[in-house]
Amino acid sequence: MICLQCGKQAMQETDVKGLFHTRRELVCGRCGSVFVDHEGRGEHFELTDTRNPTAEHWQSYRHQTLSAAEWRHFAEAASPTQFRARATWPRP
Ligand SMILES: [Zn+2]
Repeated sequence: MICLQCGKQAMQETDVKGLFHTRRELVCGRCGSVFVDHEGRGEHFELTDTRNPTAEHWQSYRHQTLSAAEWRHFAEAASPTQFRARATWPRP
């Protein structure tokens, strides 16, 4: 899957065995974003890490679980001014 944050690179997918369930981690080598698919169904992703210090809104959205479509929609509005204009997005 192409990175849900930068949209530039395919994310590396790894299955991580946990105590109660196996989750899928998706890591982007380009921007350092880490998304976790807890259900393993490729539908909802939690942003657990990001390395881009300029993207304050991504920092605010850490640990939010959104669908892939929502993340993509969000990434398209990634500039801070556009982001502020999008009042419809839920605040953390
Ligand atoms: Zn990326």
